[in-house]
Amino acid sequence: MPRNRLYEKPAYKIREMLIDREVEPEDYVEEVYYRVEKKEPRINAFITLRPKEDVLKDMKTYIKRARQNPEKYRLAGILVAIKDNIHVENLPVTCGSLMLKEYIAPYNATVVERLVREGAVIIGKTNMDEFAMGSTGENSAFGPTRNPWDLARVPGGSSSGSAAALAAGFATIALGSDTGGSIRLPSSWTGVYGLKPTYGTVSRYGLVAYADSLEQIGPMARNIKDLVTVFSIITGFDEKDSTMIKKINIKYSEEIVGEPLRNMKVIVIEDFFEVGESVDDNILNTIEYIIDILQDYKIEVIFRKLGKDIVEYSLPSYYVIAMSEASSNLARYDGIRFGPKEELEEWTSWTKYYSRIRRKYFGTEVKLRIMLGSWMLSSGYRDQYYVKALRLRRLIRDKLIKLLRDADSILLPSCVSPPPKLGEVINEPIKLYMLDLATVLANISGLPAINIPARFIGNIPIGVQFMARYLDEHILFKIGALLEKETNMKDKVASIE
Ligand code: GLN
Repeated sequence: MPRNRLYEKPAYKIREMLIDREVEPEDYVEEVYYRVEKKEPRINAFITLRPKEDVLKDMKTYIKRARQNPEKYRLAGILVAIKDNIHVENLPVTCGSLMLKEYIAPYNATVVERLVREGAVIIGKTNMDEFAMGSTGENSAFGPTRNPWDLARVPGGSSSGSAAALAAGFATIALGSDTGGSIRLPSSWTGVYGLKPTYGTVSRYGLVAYADSLEQIGPMARNIKDLVTVFSIITGFDEKDSTMIKKINIKYSEEIVGEPLRNMKVIVIEDFFEVGESVDDNILNTIEYIIDILQDYKIEVIFRKLGKDIVEYSLPSYYVIAMSEASSNLARYDGIRFGPKEELEEWTSWTKYYSRIRRKYFGTEVKLRIMLGSWMLSSGYRDQYYVKALRLRRLIRDKLIKLLRDADSILLPSCVSPPPKLGEVINEPIKLYMLDLATVLANISGLPAINIPARFIGNIPIGVQFMARYLDEHILFKIGALLEKETNMKDKVASIE
């Protein structure tokens, strides 16, 4: 059935073929929906999938416009999957939770508005860990997502559906959100490129909040060029988000992808090699493989230590801050302002009403975090936990900024192990939280970080992570472009047979 293999082509190529009439919208839509119909029941990447007819109609409209005006519409007709905590007008925004099962977005998030303005066509809303709390994609009230490369394994979370949709060829580009690694971890385990942008460069208007001070929406794609295009479209000041940087001066452009790297220095954080029992050998070998490539290109690789305390305390600091902010952000789900309303048989009190709604519609992980977060913010404990975590946060940030005075980028793992099997770690909170060991640093500090696919271990792709100075996304893109050439990990889609 698939003739043109459009489902695995880069966005820039599909757009060109559509505009030049080499293929028609029907070809692209049919190919993608053929895959979805065949494999989605097993993978479960979508919570909401738009009807094929609606998608085709939108695509035809944009392609018609783009054919008349080919300079505009940088994403004309391109199928994009959106994580289900981002508002797309008239579609559900469930956040992977029963609490929001019936909630329909009354407006578009700024990022969605910007993608649509460029002609992108939304295919659906993707599965995720409930309220973005999780690392495997198993915490969704709508069932777990499976890794298209190995259905027995998890794809990583919390942007599990967006990553799986790309790896399965159900969409060409995607959006995720990253509070502590939720774009980079699933990207790493599904073989896609994923960026957590500098804090304040992408509007969070229309993103359902989990932990505001840590999270950013970011692009996911199967190659660097598409990643850069999506990022350049969604970034830029938005007065609806008060935490944004006013003048975002990022020197990205699609051309930089081909520019050579001159006098580049990369720091490798040695500590990750020492926490031996927590970082898998396969991951360490992957980092070594990437170091070899960098050195072949005369990139100076410097080994530095972050300090055992920083590596050890970054996770606790992250989780204290994330849970504290979550406990406050999730207070709005009370069955009055948001969440299902219910009639009580017998009215006793508001407290009873709230408890009943929250007990019934929140999942276990969410409840756990709300309780811990509220407790850590309560008087008497606040100084012991929350305030201490904020101090650590400053220490970690300062240390990373200092390291980046001596180099352009930091190389570290995106994940500490290959993806576990479904059910393998979900009931072991410590193991589960440990999965974020290498990703939380960028959220704590607000620095940009990218996952770049590196190689296959068996049939599973694995990525590595690079971090850079504030607003230095272009460095990450250049490194990505270089590795993309060397690793042969571009445009990889799992077979659906
Ligand atoms: N796994 C981390 C958490 O559960 C990160 C999630 C995220 O980035 N949204 O908090």
